[in-house]
Amino acid sequence: MRKKLIAANWKMYKTPDQTREFFREFLPMVAGHDRDEIVVCAPDIDLAAGLESARGSKVAIGAQNVHWKNEGAFTGETSTAMLLALGVTHVVIGHSERRQYFCETDDTVNMRLKAALEAGLTPICCVGEVLEEREAGATDDVLRRQCVRAFHALSARKSEKLVVAYEPVWAIGTGKTATPEIAAEAHMVIRREAGEIFGDEFAARLRILYGGSVKPENASALMAQEEIDGALVGGASLDPKSFAAIVKY
Ligand code: PEP
Repeated sequence: MRKKLIAANWKMYKTPDQTREFFREFLPMVAGHDRDEIVVCAPDIDLAAGLESARGSKVAIGAQNVHWKNEGAFTGETSTAMLLALGVTHVVIGHSERRQYFCETDDTVNMRLKAALEAGLTPICCVGEVLEEREAGATDDVLRRQCVRAFHALSARKSEKLVVAYEPVWAIGTGKTATPEIAAEAHMVIRREAGEIFGDEFAARLRILYGGSVKPENASALMAQEEIDGALVGGASLDPKSFAAIVKY
């Protein structure tokens, strides 16, 4: 049985005060909720406030990116050591917005992923096709290519904490959600590829989240799919009530 993981991706929203306010409302709504793991991936500036607010709860705090070097002249970047020193446990890697706007490539995703796993963080590695690729019937090839490159030179033993998020780019922030069946099909492609790379036992344990306009209204249909092991939620995670409703789908 794979325990579902419901992850918030706050993108570039909220200040530390707004973070504290979110947790004041959110935590009582999910108190005692053990069925799923919950993580809030916040901007770096909010991580300390998030950790302080979530202390003593079952809600984990994640970052939205991490560099592959421990330290160095990399202005604006954050290392795994820095995240660990704060108490951060999760990190989103290779989000399509980073690929689209910040020159993230499959190779840099691979380097970030390796660093995160080596540091003991739980990486949520995002893959997904753009609309033109789906319309051209290339979705499976794109997903396989992204997985092969992202997981290059990683071993199953060292990748136990790996989580993958299938995020069709055409569904992110657009209000268009993949149907549960479309999402499940893509998850099967990713799981098969993970099986090729890491072995079938690893693939059977691998959690694959769905992301792309998940809302309280569509969460239960998506989560009912056996292939879907949780959600990565952008817009709808900013409001405590709406994120709590998704957590409790
Ligand atoms: C995301 O940011 O990963 C995401 C899926 O966004 P949204 O839920 O807003 O589509």
